[in-house]
Amino acid sequence: MENVIILGTGCAGFTAGIYAARANLNPLILEGKQPGGQLTTTSEVENFPGFPEGIDGYSLMEHLRKQALKFGARVENAFVDRVALGESEKSLFAGEKIYQAKSIIIATGAAPRLLGVPGEKELFGGKGVTTCATCDGAFYRGMDVVVVGGGDSACEEALFLTRFCTKVTLIHRRNELRASKIMAERTLAHEKIEPLWDSAVDEILADEDGKARAVQVTNLKSGETKEVECKGVFIAIGHLPNTQPFKEVLPLDDNGYLIPESGSSVKTALPGVYVAGDCADHVYRQAITAAGMGCQAAIEAERWLADQA
Ligand code: NAP
Repeated sequence: MENVIILGTGCAGFTAGIYAARANLNPLILEGKQPGGQLTTTSEVENFPGFPEGIDGYSLMEHLRKQALKFGARVENAFVDRVALGESEKSLFAGEKIYQAKSIIIATGAAPRLLGVPGEKELFGGKGVTTCATCDGAFYRGMDVVVVGGGDSACEEALFLTRFCTKVTLIHRRNELRASKIMAERTLAHEKIEPLWDSAVDEILADEDGKARAVQVTNLKSGETKEVECKGVFIAIGHLPNTQPFKEVLPLDDNGYLIPESGSSVKTALPGVYVAGDCADHVYRQAITAAGMGCQAAIEAERWLADQA
């Protein structure tokens, strides 16, 4: 049986791995469907302390992975879909495989939220609809695109897309951005970005080749409907926590986020079970806060394991 299994390889998971490995717990880190987590789909990270010139998300995650491995953490690819969490033994089921540990740290992150409108599913991927400008932006060189959303992610996506695209229409359902002031100002000042306020996307329309050609948009104040021509639709409307396997065994809030025990940001009601990062944090959701929670969770796991000995 493992001392500690960490679920997730984002900032929270790898930081927990670094601390648990340095505490000689020989941690096993399970890598899910998105190795490296959400930061691997981000362009420049300018607010992670220690990188005054910024660092791209992929490189930051590679640094964290190397650091965890250097101290002896092990990484395996496994998508856990069911858990049984006993006091002295936790079982994690990944398809046919069963992992067992005395303690676990859940750092499963969050996944992009989708609009749920006609055309979205059908055109997702190579046909024009995506949630990742860093991954797909270059495919839309010289084209008009739209970004949906009004938060930091939408601004980041829109700004990134200006490197390639002719015009970026930022479609938001309200008449002001939710993004941080600096991001909002940068976005609205950019000559290639045009905001479309108070507007909701009703449908994503395809051309004869089955690729996106436009979005149909309704003005929520006037009720007027129009089409906005675009080859790419970048959806940046927030995230859903990856907490499905835990919904029967741990408390979740209405949006599916794991709820830590009162008075702690990482302890849960179950002994030896800890949470870290975006799967349990709908307030801060930053790389550095996820890393901080990973550190706290590993220290708590170490103390709990020492008490059991
Ligand atoms: P967010 O702050 O939750 O913003 C989501 C945006 O999408 C909001 O503007 C929301 O509209 C809109 N939205 C939600 N559901 C929608 C729907 N069904 N249809 C249309 N619009 C919808 O999410 P985020 O931008 O992903 O940011 C998440 C967190 O990460 C934030 O704390 C952010 O500061 C942080 N972040 C930081 C950086 C950075 O610092 N470089 C980059 C990215 C993200 P309303 O405004 O009406 O709610």
